[in-house]
Amino acid sequence: MIRIKKLSKTYAQKNIYVRALHNINLCLPNTGLVFIVGKSGSGKSTLLNLLGALDSFDDGDIIVNGKSMIGFTENERNNYRYDTIGFVFQDFNLIDEYNVEKNITIGCNLDNTPENNKKVLKILDQVELTSFAKRKINTLSGGQMQRVAIARALLKNPPILLCDEPTGQLDSETSDSIFKLLKDISKNSLVIVVSHDVESAEKFGDRIITIKDGEVANDTNPDVMEKSDEEADFSETKKYHQSIKTTSMLGFGFLKRRPIRLCIALIISMLCFTMFCLSDAVASYKKNELILNALYENNNDYIAYKKVCYWTDEYDEGTIKQEKIDLNDIKFLKEQIPFNNYYPVYDLFIGKRYNFPSTGVISSNDYYKYDIEGMVELTDNLIEEFGYKLTGELPKNKNEVVITQYAYEMYKKYGIADSRGTSMKVNSMSDIIGQELSVKLFKDDEERELYENNGNSYEYEVKFKITGIIDTKFNYNRYLPAREYAGNGTEKEKDIMSILNLEINQIVWNSFTNLLFVKDGYYEEYLKKGEISDPQYLFIIIPLTKSFKKDIKFIEFANKQFNYSKYQDNPNMNNVKQYYTMENEIVFSINRIESRFEVLTKVIKYVSLGLILIVVGFMAYYFSGVIQDKEREIGILRSFGASKIDITNVFSFMALIAAVISILLALFLSLILIGVLNNYLINEYYLFYLFYRIGLRQIGLVVLIELIAFALGLLLPLIKLLKKKPVDIIARRN
Ligand code: ADP
Ligand code: MG
Repeated sequence: MIRIKKLSKTYAQKNIYVRALHNINLCLPNTGLVFIVGKSGSGKSTLLNLLGALDSFDDGDIIVNGKSMIGFTENERNNYRYDTIGFVFQDFNLIDEYNVEKNITIGCNLDNTPENNKKVLKILDQVELTSFAKRKINTLSGGQMQRVAIARALLKNPPILLCDEPTGQLDSETSDSIFKLLKDISKNSLVIVVSHDVESAEKFGDRIITIKDGEVANDTNPDVMEKSDEEADFSETKKYHQSIKTTSMLGFGFLKRRPIRLCIALIISMLCFTMFCLSDAVASYKKNELILNALYENNNDYIAYKKVCYWTDEYDEGTIKQEKIDLNDIKFLKEQIPFNNYYPVYDLFIGKRYNFPSTGVISSNDYYKYDIEGMVELTDNLIEEFGYKLTGELPKNKNEVVITQYAYEMYKKYGIADSRGTSMKVNSMSDIIGQELSVKLFKDDEERELYENNGNSYEYEVKFKITGIIDTKFNYNRYLPAREYAGNGTEKEKDIMSILNLEINQIVWNSFTNLLFVKDGYYEEYLKKGEISDPQYLFIIIPLTKSFKKDIKFIEFANKQFNYSKYQDNPNMNNVKQYYTMENEIVFSINRIESRFEVLTKVIKYVSLGLILIVVGFMAYYFSGVIQDKEREIGILRSFGASKIDITNVFSFMALIAAVISILLALFLSLILIGVLNNYLINEYYLFYLFYRIGLRQIGLVVLIELIAFALGLLLPLIKLLKKKPVDIIARRN
């Protein structure tokens, strides 16, 4: 039972006030067909909307089953709309895209269970639309549409059915059939019909209330029963439960609207986030990881550390000097970056190969470098550790030596001269194994003595017998152009040659490639004599573990500065630091590229940040379009009890789908473009590794920022929508 007490409602639009209802007092029974009639503009619809809690009143009260509407919470209002009220509108307010069945179930949100299907069939039968279940709305006549609307309202089995001009758009014959239907329904529930059709009211109505200028002018059957009923409770847990299926169905349906705007928004967001992804990949690439990955990719299985000392003098000028690595350094290194195994490179025999047929053929800018950087003891362990291939024998004596494949290639090109000065060609490895290798040394007297050499000249020769050739995995393919280079060609080719030559320098100075391999225990047996008791290494070679976590520490450690006590007493050396450098062709190459992209990277970053704002703007443009199109549908859902959260869910789902599409597109495009960019770098700068990578960081950032951008784009139009009362949305079209 509904009691309406002193109900008043005034519409305020800017400075114009329209008194729509004034001091309405009514008591409505639990069943029966009640007509509210009156001229257009008299306030009928206003009253009905207030009864349906679609709008708010200023004064008085509506008490439904003992529960006052004043102070309805949002939840109570939704529950009341859902399970107490069924609304039938003059213009049907059906959803054109859905068929009859879907239109009926949408307000009620029923799952597709057999039980529910039975219920739907029963209702369809009641409104005489049994065979129309799958028909599209726009194929129906007006009367049929209104029956669908009534069926939709009836499915929830509401105790109160509110109908606003249900026959306003129908001819009189169809009107009659609708009224008959309503009359039928009114046997078990209260049906309130707003109409200006007084004739029908008199024909079908149990009671006719006439409204004039917002006041009750006449009531054929006033109900004055003043007995108070039990207070109803609408505040229980939410009644309307929008299933995920419905949410997604609505969301997908919404997505189909405004396809052009959607495409534009998606394309813009794809481009923007691709730029964002790329700029982040470019800007936030981790140099150390890049170095390590490039080392892995190019089968560089080790790194070489050299020790460097730095100090400033009294004029603040800095000096850098390479130092030898001794056992104290090894101890220090092992504390800093634990490693098990290392290969020391001695430089006691640093010098030049001397037994080419004619010296001076090779200049230091050429592919072959005849300087020998140092020597290393060759063990089975070393061969196994790096998977090297030895042709011939391990050196077993002091005067035996194994040369590298790189050196062998050199002899193959230039030939070899024996001690008598006669030169011979080298065509195969067997030509050179067993031959004599003479090395010219530039060492001090002390070292000379150690080698039991009695020459007096500062330069002197040491002769070895070559017992084998070791392939240290020098990247021949990459440096082939430099080997074949004849000294002419285009500018670009010259550029490439100079790059390759600089890289070869890095290789021969910092790797196994250009070392002499001497017998295991060489140092202990032959060199550790006299005053040189502690080993002094030119550099040390540490094998990579192939565990990224461990190996990255080696890379990170390079160039870390430490205080150095060695020269502290020297008054001319201030601020003395020591650090260990890791040099190789990859570090060299990366340093070369890095500097060129600094500015570009920054520009891209700011541009893409700006673009994100544009994406937010476009998403807002898109969503406001969809919301404009779908407003009525949302109004209907709201009038049937869907909460603001339900509506938000639908749009969030829709935004999520759009975001996922855009994210996938952006990542896909990014991967392609990063490939193009890397290819460009490889071609233009003659790189031999992938410079930029798209990693988890970029994917995570794109996902996160896209979601935020789409959510922001949705926020404003959605808030605007949710602020509207359902009645304002539904009434908009008139
Ligand atoms: P009826 O349904 O009897 O034709 P309404 O209840 O729709 O009348 O309207 C009653 C009065 O309130 C009319 O003068 C109408 O112009 C006014 N009115 C209705 N809705 C609004 C609104 N949203 N804003 C301002 N005035 C309104
Ligand atoms: Mg009206």
